[in-house]
This record gives sequence, structure tokens and C-alpha cells, in this order.
Amino acid sequence: MSKDNNHEKIPTYIVQQNNQYSVECQIKRATDCQGNGEYCDSHEEAQEWVEEECWIFSGEGWICFTCVESIWRKLVQNRRQKGA
Ligand SMILES: [Zn+2]
Repeated sequence: MSKDNNHEKIPTYIVQQNNQYSVECQIKRATDCQGNGEYCDSHEEAQEWVEEECWIFSGEGWICFTCVESIWRKLVQNRRQKGA
């Protein structure tokens, strides 16, 4: 058991506050965007939290469920307009 996890790389989508970590929403598109996830003791936990909350990983960052929902709503709307 080594204790050299001080040098672990923290992903850029993680925000830090008072030694607490949280995943930030990448796009903050929805008016009621959650902004960021729950603050946890480690960034791994913060990431697990957003996974459980059904946030979507874009490849560069996480998109909160509220923003994902707003994108889908817009897509469905466009689709309906085209179909009509
Ligand atoms: Zn969001």
C-alpha cells in the first residue's frame, strides 16, 4: 500500500472548494442547469455521483442531466417541425 496518490492528476472538469471536489457541468446550457454536482471528499467520488445522476460524459467533460434533457427537448422540437 503506497501513499503516493498526492500527484494524481485531477481532470479539468473537476472544481475544488475547501478540499472538496465536484464535477462541473460542461455546457451550462439549461436555464435551470445544476452547475455542478455534489461536493465529495475525492474527485473519484464526485465523478461517481454524477454517473449515478445520469450525467453524460462528452469525452471532454460532463453534461448535467438537466442540460442533456434540454438538448433532447430541442432536438425533438426541431424534428417535429420538420415532420409537420
Ligand atoms: Zn448543466
